[in-house]
Amino acid sequence: MVTSNSIYLDHAATTPVHPNVLQAMLPYFTEQFGNPSTIASFGQDARRGLEKARTSIARVLGCLPTEIVFTSCGTESDNLAIKGVAQASRGRGNHIVTSVIEHEAVLHSCQALERQDYQVTYVPVDRYGVVDPAAVEAAITERTVLISIMSANNEVGTIQPVTEIGAVARRYKIPFHTDAVQAAGVLDLNVDRLGVDLLALSAHKFSAPKGVGLLYVRSGTPLEPQQHGGSQERRRRAGTENVPYIVGMATALERAQSHRDDYRAHTMSLRDELIAGVLEQVPGSVLTGHPTQRLPNNSSFCIPGVESGMVLRALDMQGIAVSSGSACTSASMTPSHVLLAMGVPPALAHGALRMTLGIDTSAEQIARVMEVLPAAVERARTLSAAF
Ligand code: PLP
Repeated sequence: MVTSNSIYLDHAATTPVHPNVLQAMLPYFTEQFGNPSTIASFGQDARRGLEKARTSIARVLGCLPTEIVFTSCGTESDNLAIKGVAQASRGRGNHIVTSVIEHEAVLHSCQALERQDYQVTYVPVDRYGVVDPAAVEAAITERTVLISIMSANNEVGTIQPVTEIGAVARRYKIPFHTDAVQAAGVLDLNVDRLGVDLLALSAHKFSAPKGVGLLYVRSGTPLEPQQHGGSQERRRRAGTENVPYIVGMATALERAQSHRDDYRAHTMSLRDELIAGVLEQVPGSVLTGHPTQRLPNNSSFCIPGVESGMVLRALDMQGIAVSSGSACTSASMTPSHVLLAMGVPPALAHGALRMTLGIDTSAEQIARVMEVLPAAVERARTLSAAF
């Protein structure tokens, strides 16, 4: 059971909604609740909220408001980017370049296209989980219609050289998509500086609710809608817009952007304390992901001799929420595709542990985790050895 003493170290999975974000949303449930596509005043009030949110998000991304497509989540945004560009470009080619460490939203979209006669090159990564821009360039063929490389990895936190890959994409005039779901509020999201043509975000990763996201689509980028119906979102995504959630997402993104420096400084110093503590006090533990080019709130490890689930449950019983890596795959017994791609041996990958901090994480909480974790690992090791 979650109590006021619970410690939440799973911010990469999702974040609590900030009270100011909730406040900004509330009027759009009960007062300005109209359908933004209707002409009557109720609809127009909702439309004003929707367009204000679009403009505020466009300011953060440095793009035109018309280049933003609201969606239901990061997964939908990735699907729309990949399938949308691939299908709209079918006359020109059928090849996509992506990486082996993408989120399933990207990987499974690419696999779905492979079943429809598209070809996909999955560029490898080094042992820190970094994609080499030269490898992306080497994978390009005359048939390449899209490059998709994530901004930062959700499991190990490695930040990718997006700007360099963007420069490669520009040189070859190939649309470039980045899944920036883990980057909001942490990294620069300016689409021109990044050199991206498509960028996916998910609101629940930055203190807004689950069930809303967006896709930035640079003007002129070919895009086949994946959902058919009304003419919302300039015919790129049919369906009545979720106005309260979109207003919440815009409020949260502005907040995240303006608090970026504080957030980075706060999480990074506690994260480094946590990393040092684990490496020192949990024998054999190894840090996964890049030692410095990583998200400021991400600490991820592999712990030999244990299965992550045992440690997770032991910590959970002490009121500490951590993860084995991706929230989407943590229920499966298959070791993470990200760790395997980085060359981590499967036996070691079974002991993956991810702790992701938030702005409310305190030094006392980190100290408490370090009181509990070494003993929990020892117990799990003893139990594992007994079977
Ligand atoms: N991409 C990345 C990198 C993620 O971390 C996630 C969620 O964890 C997603 C996509 C999917 O986002 P959503 O949960 O909004 O569908």
